[in-house]
Amino acid sequence: MSIVQEIRCSNCGAPISFEAGEIIATCKYCGYTVVIETGKAFAFEHSMLLNKYDPTQIEEPIKNWMRAGFLKPHDLASKSKLIEKTLIYVPFWIVTAEVETVYKGIFERITPPVVKEGRMEKKYNWLVLARKASEFPTKEYDVPLEGKIPYDFTKIEDFAKTLNSEIDKDEAVEKAKQEIEEHHQYLAQQDVDRIIEIKNEIKIDQTVYLHAPIWLIKYEYKGKTYQLLLDGATGTAIKGDIPSTGFGIF
Ligand SMILES: [Zn+2]
Repeated sequence: MSIVQEIRCSNCGAPISFEAGEIIATCKYCGYTVVIETGKAFAFEHSMLLNKYDPTQIEEPIKNWMRAGFLKPHDLASKSKLIEKTLIYVPFWIVTAEVETVYKGIFERITPPVVKEGRMEKKYNWLVLARKASEFPTKEYDVPLEGKIPYDFTKIEDFAKTLNSEIDKDEAVEKAKQEIEEHHQYLAQQDVDRIIEIKNEIKIDQTVYLHAPIWLIKYEYKGKTYQLLLDGATGTAIKGDIPSTGFGIF
């Protein structure tokens, strides 16, 4: 169980509550964002994406998701019952990076094998979840960054929940770099069979702290509970559990 603690908002004086492990918190009364340890204002860009749905309207994209795709039971939309619809503003770090990778490897798909060199240049808005214990399918989430606006606490709905950050900017940048390197290692392996040498040069352009509206949906179908995550900015399904149709061979 997490212990809730409190500090005073240095902007409006209201209490800001936070849980153990959180390091950046936002006042829900004025939107002031503070670094808990120092009590100082958060010095980087804090943005948000707007949610377009209320708990009734979100049912339409949910039903659409249930109806689409041949892998789902045909009666999923009509027979399932929504048992939870929670809007959560999930904190992320968006690390904008320019990456140059040069590599050398052995191409073994031909005889005799040859040494091959390659180079790639890529740009990313790399997404890092600002929570430690939670799982979020960041790879499946195509963040609609074109809708990004400065954080505005008046846009946060009363029924929504807002999570604070558990990792700081430097940690987020490190994590992004590490994941980019792994990704480029993977890409290089598509080109050569055995890598001899790989060098990445990663230039970080910008790091933005972003709250994104994510709907956590729980639904029941034939006595079992399943989960679905939807992007509140676009209504797009990010990831969802699909009940097995029961037509397996085994
Ligand atoms: Zn405040």
